[in-house]
Amino acid sequence: MAESIEKPIGVTARPMRPQEFYDSIKRKFAEERDLRLSYRPEGTAQYTSDLTGALAKYEIDPYASEVTPREPLNDIVEVLFIGGGFSALLTSARLREHGVESIRIVERGADVGGTWYWNRYPGVACDVVAYDYLPLLDELDYVPKDHYAKGPEILAHCQAIARKYNLYELATFQTTVTSTVWDPVEQMWNLTTDRGDRMKARFVICANGTLSKPKLAKIKGLETFQGHSFHTSRWDYAYTKPDLSGLEDKVVGIIGTGATAVQAVPGLGAAAKELYVFQRTPSSIDVRDDWPTDPNWARRLPQGWQTRRRELARMEPQLNEEQKARQAAMSPEEKVRRQENANIEAMMKIHRRIDAIVKDKATAEALKPWYMLLCKRPCFHNEYLPTFNRPNVHLVDTRGKGITEITEMGPVFDGKQYELDVLMYATGFEVQKTGIYNQIKGESGLELNDKYRDGIRTLLGIHSHGYPNLFIMGGYQASFQFNLTDMLQAQGDHIASCIEYARRHGIQAIDAKPDSEQWWVDEVIKHRGKTSRNQECTPGYYNFEGEFQRRQDGNYNGGFFHYCKHLTDVHARMEDHFIFVRKSR
Ligand code: NDP
Repeated sequence: MAESIEKPIGVTARPMRPQEFYDSIKRKFAEERDLRLSYRPEGTAQYTSDLTGALAKYEIDPYASEVTPREPLNDIVEVLFIGGGFSALLTSARLREHGVESIRIVERGADVGGTWYWNRYPGVACDVVAYDYLPLLDELDYVPKDHYAKGPEILAHCQAIARKYNLYELATFQTTVTSTVWDPVEQMWNLTTDRGDRMKARFVICANGTLSKPKLAKIKGLETFQGHSFHTSRWDYAYTKPDLSGLEDKVVGIIGTGATAVQAVPGLGAAAKELYVFQRTPSSIDVRDDWPTDPNWARRLPQGWQTRRRELARMEPQLNEEQKARQAAMSPEEKVRRQENANIEAMMKIHRRIDAIVKDKATAEALKPWYMLLCKRPCFHNEYLPTFNRPNVHLVDTRGKGITEITEMGPVFDGKQYELDVLMYATGFEVQKTGIYNQIKGESGLELNDKYRDGIRTLLGIHSHGYPNLFIMGGYQASFQFNLTDMLQAQGDHIASCIEYARRHGIQAIDAKPDSEQWWVDEVIKHRGKTSRNQECTPGYYNFEGEFQRRQDGNYNGGFFHYCKHLTDVHARMEDHFIFVRKSR
């Protein structure tokens, strides 16, 4: 999710050309950004994730043909997770280690896996090295098959975690939580679902992910299209066939060129009769160094190897004395300038790679991204760019404007009608602040979204005052990590420790103190204003489509090392940061 853009990038910070060159590229970046902002001043409102009525079909689960009938549940559990992806799985593993038995996962899909349950489009894989991304490898005694894990292996790993920690027993699938209301008398959460359940839970963990609700661009006439269509996170294999042979005689269109499309396009290009890729802004595509895991390396891995690997990854980068002195001698402006110049060099390398691979010059030009690297999610793929050399693959570059009209035959751009058999939406996901589909009402009856109306307010991105025993995972005001599972594990460890603390001390309810919450909001704001990159970036979900003034609503940008340290410090001084309600004796 959001901004990691304040981090230095891994290229030399020394300017390599006259400053005028970098300044001219920055001007071009600004022009491209302004062009997009002028087309879409409405920001995030350009999208809809209200997939009801004519749009309801875009959210139907294609992987579970029927909803399994069951009686409504009216029981009590100690810990309830809303969502069954990595957040729930990782935290549950730690809770089990603390002896917590009563754990329920409530999940909208028909199995655990979250993102990896829903995203099964062809080519789906993770860009983070598998030995880091797949969690609990020590505990499960598993070594991933390849340097980068593919979607099916990740989903299977999620299922293996659920089996190992006995999480299927109380889990309830194909169920959406609709309300979560605190009962101050019983000191418990009351939850209702779309399956008529009325459950109670002492602790509730919002583990619904930040990018889990598919969204569609509000395109005129979208619902009039008479061909077949679906969102990439609801891939219709009944139509395409698992090997995509169903597309052999089809004219296929895909809208969007983000990380999803980059992985899906190569397979589509190879399978479809014709493929039209409708681009608004290109992604940066770097090399992907993938290889099968060496069995000899895997065999020699010592016990606890992944834990050790993660510890090393979490350590603060150490500068030598010379580097420290050089940094100290540099003005803040000079630091920013060097970092920007290095960033531009990295982007120019991405451009050169395009020129070297894509044969048609106009297509190559259109595929070049004009923004600072990390303004948008960087992508890594070896087949995406060569796909545009296929005679059946056509890039429709909308030069920042996007597709604004769809007729019954397909998209229209620049007066040209594209007649398609099938249209795929790779338009991404709504960025959630709290629960989706779910109203969360705290101690005073205030809805969490209403509390957040003027800006998110949390302690560590996890706790929010007035919402006792509620924990939010993977959300805003937490740190950003390219390896998201590492972040989720850090949060999960903290949450499990809080619950363990409450159990050990006879505490029924634990709530963040207002002062601690204010301290954290201030920390978040303090670390967000370091550069104006957020404002300067081309619009995308990283910067709320250009709504850059939402200062509290982003990530904590103080770095993962410091975030983990804050987690530890807060835990070491629980009495200072939390209000407790103890069990009456
Ligand atoms: P994104 O939000 O990143 O991309 C949406 C795409 O749709 C953008 O290219 C956007 O253009 C485009 N778009 C929107 N409206 C229109 C329109 N009207 N006409 C043309 N194009 C349009 O969604 P993704 O599903 O690709 O990725 C979401 C996130 O999921 C990633 O950023 C990443 O965090 C994660 N992910 C990770 C993967 C990995 O590990 N490799 C793979 C897939 C996803 P514009 O850029 O102009 O807004």
